Amino acid sequence: MDTRTLYDYNEKEIDNVKIYFLQKNIKRMSLRVKPDGKVIAVRPLRATLEESIKFAYDNIDWIRRTQQKILQKATEKKPKMPLTLAEINTFKAKLGQIFPHCEARMKLYASKVTVRPMKTRWGSCSSCGNISINLELARYSDECLEYVIIHELAHLVHRNHSDNFWQLVATYCPDWKRIRHSLRY
Ligand SMILES: [Zn+2]
Repeated sequence: MDTRTLYDYNEKEIDNVKIYFLQKNIKRMSLRVKPDGKVIAVRPLRATLEESIKFAYDNIDWIRRTQQKILQKATEKKPKMPLTLAEINTFKAKLGQIFPHCEARMKLYASKVTVRPMKTRWGSCSSCGNISINLELARYSDECLEYVIIHELAHLVHRNHSDNFWQLVATYCPDWKRIRHSLRY
């Protein structure tokens, strides 16, 4: 058992990352990302929770990078099962509903929509307005699919990832940061 005393325990979300804050009889602030991706911030007894939160904020990029590395390793280890025909058909049917819904909300329309397996991207939007959606999204939630559709439709207006582009995405998908993070772009 840990001989150091556990004084309190707080769970907070910082910049879309869930962090567990603990206080122990240690000398310096520490941050740790466990093999399951869980983030633990430990602070000395004399430090306040606010100080620990600030420390986590200052190191948020490191936390994200470390989490990403862990996730990457985990996915490299287990090869994915190929999607079944039923899963592919279910996904296409879902896309057939969500896509026009997003188009109508944004009043932006693709010339053509294609679903295909892609290696490096979740979606793409050509200069002539053809949008491709990665079939791999069949493994993800509806909100992920919706985010990718909104992202690609927004490219019909902004052909870049400028602030204006993200503003447009945020108008139709306010939670885009969290969803994008869960997709590990
Ligand atoms: Zn993009």
